[in-house]
Amino acid sequence: MKRQCVKVPKKKGEPVRRVLLELDLLDNSMKIGSDETFLYLPLFREPAPHELEALSEEAELSDFDFTPQEKKPTPEDLLGFSPSYEIIGDIALLEDPELEQETASRIADALLKTQPNVKTVLRPLTPVIGEFRVREFEVVAGEPRTETVHKEYGCRYKVDLARAYFTPRLSTERSRILSMVREGDTIVDMFAGVGPYSVLLAKSKKPARVIAIDKNPDAVRYLRENITLNSVKNIEAIEGDAREEALRFAGTADHVIMNLPHNACEFLDSAVLLTKPGGIIHYYGITPEDDLFEGSIKLIREAAERVGREIEVLEKRTVRSYAPHQYNICIEVRVI
Ligand code: SAM
Repeated sequence: MKRQCVKVPKKKGEPVRRVLLELDLLDNSMKIGSDETFLYLPLFREPAPHELEALSEEAELSDFDFTPQEKKPTPEDLLGFSPSYEIIGDIALLEDPELEQETASRIADALLKTQPNVKTVLRPLTPVIGEFRVREFEVVAGEPRTETVHKEYGCRYKVDLARAYFTPRLSTERSRILSMVREGDTIVDMFAGVGPYSVLLAKSKKPARVIAIDKNPDAVRYLRENITLNSVKNIEAIEGDAREEALRFAGTADHVIMNLPHNACEFLDSAVLLTKPGGIIHYYGITPEDDLFEGSIKLIREAAERVGREIEVLEKRTVRSYAPHQYNICIEVRVI
């Protein structure tokens, strides 16, 4: 089966294989190929430029005719249906809040039997709620805990899902913002959580400074741990209210990240205050399908005009569906 792969001299194969695994790029459904000189490591997807840089200089993209691995049973094979779940670190999160206890237990057993990396199965007892955007969980099976370490783009994030917000579903967003940041930029992550934007940006792009703010003391505790875990030095982790902290960093930011989609509009004055002339605000919102962007753009423009500034809209995009007729959107504006 022809697949895109990384071709690397055999003596460099093992470290490159490990990096590909860390980056979730290695396609384990195929056997690794080889000839006399090279290993051929099958890929799930095209690596981003910064991911390619993380490999050996002697590694290159190529094609190879791979043999599929013997098929292991899947949860579907054991259950007769496809359960809906999300993996965060070594925790599987059942997604259907209406599941009956018995079905939840069957799914949990199937996941523990078929997914060697899953050690705990949780199901949410509440939606994401409150100022700190957290959920309550029930442990359905496995180790009784809500803490895990999740890997994303070569970074590791320790998080207790019952104490701080985290979702892998924004990983593409984080990578997209990474592509907009330049070396030497100052970034203010107003609602940083356990640090998935801040740590990635600080680690990969060498910005001058990342200011990561969150009001939830537990989130900031994990953010600080994640700074250490990922050996990044150019982040300041601040426990506090983004509105008050903005006063200290006025006019410093090349990028302001506003990932508090339900309430970001209440912090627009602070975001404008933070932004340097020419800096960019990355604004996330939850909006209805009949007004995905224009209402939010009006609010951003009004906040800028209140202090005599203007905006240029650079990007408006739907990130994901949030609820029936409601979307999580992102708008990027340059503040002049
Ligand atoms: N950016 C992180 C991520 O992608 O995982 C976290 C996003 S979460 C949706 C929003 C975060 O904003 C939560 O961690 C919450 O504690 C924090 N928060 C809520 N109100 C805040 C405020 N007034 N000032 C600072 N942080 C706040």
